[in-house]
Amino acid sequence: MSRETQVLVSDLHSEAWWIRLMDDEVTAEERVRWDAHLAHCTRCQEEWKAMIFADAALRAAPAPEALPVGFTAATVDRIKRQQRLRRLLAFVAGTFIVTLVAMLVLALAGSALGVVEQGFIAVVAGRQALFRSVMHMVLVLFFGWQAILPFVLGLLAVGYLLLMPNGLLFTAALIWLSGHRRAMAPVRS
Ligand SMILES: [Zn+2]
Repeated sequence: MSRETQVLVSDLHSEAWWIRLMDDEVTAEERVRWDAHLAHCTRCQEEWKAMIFADAALRAAPAPEALPVGFTAATVDRIKRQQRLRRLLAFVAGTFIVTLVAMLVLALAGSALGVVEQGFIAVVAGRQALFRSVMHMVLVLFFGWQAILPFVLGLLAVGYLLLMPNGLLFTAALIWLSGHRRAMAPVRS
């Protein structure tokens, strides 16, 4: 076997060559060489036969059915309908769950709500009573303030004493107040 034949044989066994052969892109000279090679190479004969068989099988296979007219539009419509239905179902399910949960919460909170309502009524009644007493006090102060003035002053003094954080300051304030009164006394009389 000459060196040229060796190169040719190895080339004819390459994938690139077989692709060119299948695509029928070989020159006349290459075709002659290929025929000569195929005549004595059993490996290529078997492969060639397999290729021809596969090619024939592919050609014999029925062509895929043509899609009916409007198939794509119909499919898109169907998908859209399904999506709309799914959204509707999700909405209905969500509403149902929310309603169920709300009903459960309301049922559980029912008794607590009653207690809160009673408490609210009591608070309102209490405020009304407080308002009445405050109004009464205001009226009394308005019409008879002179009669209850010492009482109010005493209350204020007690409150001051209670609120005063430092007793010494209270004492000092009392001393200052008495001194002030004494100083004011001659002027009054
Ligand atoms: Zn071969």
